[in-house]
Formats: sequence, C-alpha cells, structure tokens
Amino acid sequence: MPITPLARLDHWVFDMDGTLTVGVHDFPAIRRELAIPDDADILHHLETLPAAERESKHAWLLEHERELAMRSTAAVGAVALIRELCRRGYRLGILTRNAKALAHITLEAIGLEDCFAPHDVLGRDEAAPKPDPGGLEHFVARWSIAPERMVMVGDSHLDMACGRAAGTRTLLVNHVSPRALAQADHVFDDCRALLEHLQPAFR
Ligand SMILES: [Mg+2]
Repeated sequence: MPITPLARLDHWVFDMDGTLTVGVHDFPAIRRELAIPDDADILHHLETLPAAERESKHAWLLEHERELAMRSTAAVGAVALIRELCRRGYRLGILTRNAKALAHITLEAIGLEDCFAPHDVLGRDEAAPKPDPGGLEHFVARWSIAPERMVMVGDSHLDMACGRAAGTRTLLVNHVSPRALAQADHVFDDCRALLEHLQPAFR
C-alpha cells in the first residue's frame, strides 16, 4: 500500500523543547544539581524518591524550567511552519516532558500560543512521559483519528519511540542521532526544510 504523502496528513503533534524552540536545557547540569545519576531518566528517577525529596526536587526543576521558558527562542522555521499549518486548519497538539504551564509560557514567548487549543497541550502531569505512547493515544482518542493519520514531530529518540509505539508517522527535525534516525519515517534539517517540503502540495 503506498504511504500517504505528509501534506495529506492534517493532525500533527509536536514536541516542544528543541523542536519548536532552540534547546537550552543543560541536562547534565540538572542531573548534577539534583544528584541524579548520569544515565538515569530525570523524570523517572524523581518518581523513585521519598515524597519530601521528590517534591522539593520537582519544585526546583519547575522553577529552573520556568526561567528557561520565559527566555525561549523559536527554532529555525518553527513559527512559519506552525502558522501555515494553523492557517490551513490542521489540528495541532503539543506533547512535552516539560510542565503544561511552562509549555504555555514557552508558546507565548515564541508567539505561537494562539495556534494550539489549551487542552491540546499535554505536559508531564497530563500524560505519561515519552516514550510512553499514552500522550499520543490521548490525541488519537480525542481527535477520533487513526494513529497512522497522525504525525509526531520531535528532535529526540524519545519522540520517535513514542510515535512508533503509538503507530503514528514519525518525523525528526533539528537533531540527528543514530537512535532517533532508526525510528524516524521522515528526517528534515529543521522546520524550515519541512515547510519547504510541504509547500508544493499546498499550492
Ligand atoms: Mg525535545
């Protein structure tokens, strides 16, 4: 069966940090500050801690990320891409391991807040962290659409693995790692290259 061209898919879910924004998280520094082992997943590790320690470390992380969110800058081509998809009436969602409140601050900082319905922005408290497919399954149910009609766009192997697990199309931008490439159906240098790819079909 021939695969549907990307431009014909009109339900798109985006990772936020490093995909729509220039990635500024210094994960090694966060791990050092919170005494998290180098190879551990930060969110998963926090869940294993005693309640008081977990809460204080979550609070530190939230405050640290709030400062980053307010200083967010858009990734190359991200604003033009999202504006164009939005203008064409595509359904757009955000699935981030960041907190939902900070996702809204970030989207406002880069001028894209109005392109995403508030309930279509899922943070780490609304969905199990990627690569768990729960967040994408939420969009599948909410939008009443087959997963193969949906596109998951991200910059990391976690995004690609999440899309694979949920059965969506996977699209990698901004970052090429062997782990991410192995699970990507489409690869573009950045959102500008992605928009250039879509534009002929939009004319
Ligand atoms: Mg990312």
